[in-house]
Formats: sequence, structure tokens, C-alpha cells
Amino acid sequence: MSVIWSEEAIRAELRRLDAKTGLHGASLPISFGNAMTVLGMYFSREGGAFRFSNRYFQNPDWPRELALDVIRHEYAHYMDDKVYGGAGHGTTWKMCCARVGASPVRLYNRTRETYYHQKHEAERALSDRLGGYAPGDVIAHPRCGEGVVEALTGEGTSRFAVVSFAEAGKKTLSLAWVDAHCRLVRRSSQQE
Ligand SMILES: [Zn+2]
Repeated sequence: MSVIWSEEAIRAELRRLDAKTGLHGASLPISFGNAMTVLGMYFSREGGAFRFSNRYFQNPDWPRELALDVIRHEYAHYMDDKVYGGAGHGTTWKMCCARVGASPVRLYNRTRETYYHQKHEAERALSDRLGGYAPGDVIAHPRCGEGVVEALTGEGTSRFAVVSFAEAGKKTLSLAWVDAHCRLVRRSSQQE
């Protein structure tokens, strides 16, 4: 398995931030976990330490900009702790964010935002695809064989198709299910 973000790659970014701040974040211990909602952590005890979630840092689909933002976010906690004796996401932490180029927002919210954004995009793409079906389309159902779409109801991602099969008769199917499990044999416009 290839390593997406090695400890060394993370330390390289910490060194870059150290060069801006004159601090020594790159020399702190780094540990890795697999947390779902906590992408990174900074522990102030015993000189400080970082922890990052491999659920994100070893996911090839996770954008590099977000990984860098998590590293800078945690670095801002480290800087806040060392320079101002601060903790949490208050004023001094936000000043540190500005210094190291981190977005001054709590990460969990940002993760949720990204998650909902992606979910919304996926739903929009599905809705567009379902809007392409029309009466007269012929589909191949995995058990019932070929059937003709007779009617369509609903909107967005919750649409239904009344499909007429030679043996099984008429069935009302979720169009999202049809889209995922049935093959489109031909479009109605191509029938003539
Ligand atoms: Zn934080």
C-alpha cells in the first residue's frame, strides 16, 4: 500500500511553517490514528505533540489542500500555545492562523461542509441523469428482462418509472434503482 502523506511529508510542511514563525513545530512527536471526525490534534502537554487521522491522510481521494489546511490548523494551535498561552479557537488562535495561512474555522465544521457539498453534487448528478429517462425507453431488468418505460412520476432523485415487462407485467420501480441496476437498451427517440 502506498503512503499518501508520510510523516516526513508532514514534517516538511511543519518546517516550512517554522521558517515563518521561528518556532520548532517540526521537532515535536507526531502520532497517527484513524479518527473519523477529528482530522488532527495538538496536545499541549509535555512540550506538545501532533496527531493526525490516517482515515484522511492516507485517503488518495482527499484533496491535498485540505491536508495542508489541517496541518496548518494544528500548527496554529501549537503556535497559540507557545506564543500566547492560548487554547481553543479564540482570537489569538485566529491570529496564528493568519500567520501560517490556515483557514480560521473549526475543522469538524469544515469536514461537514465538504461532506455535504460532495453529497449535494452527487445528488445533483443523479437527478440530471434521471431527468434523461423518457417514456418509450427500453431497459433490461436483471430478473425480469427487457421492459418498456410507460410512465414517469416524481422529481429530483425521487422519481418512479412504470415499466411494462413481457412476462412480469407492469412494475413501478424507483428510477434511481433502475439507473443503478438496469441496463438502458435504447432510448425512446431511437426506436423508429
Ligand atoms: Zn482546532
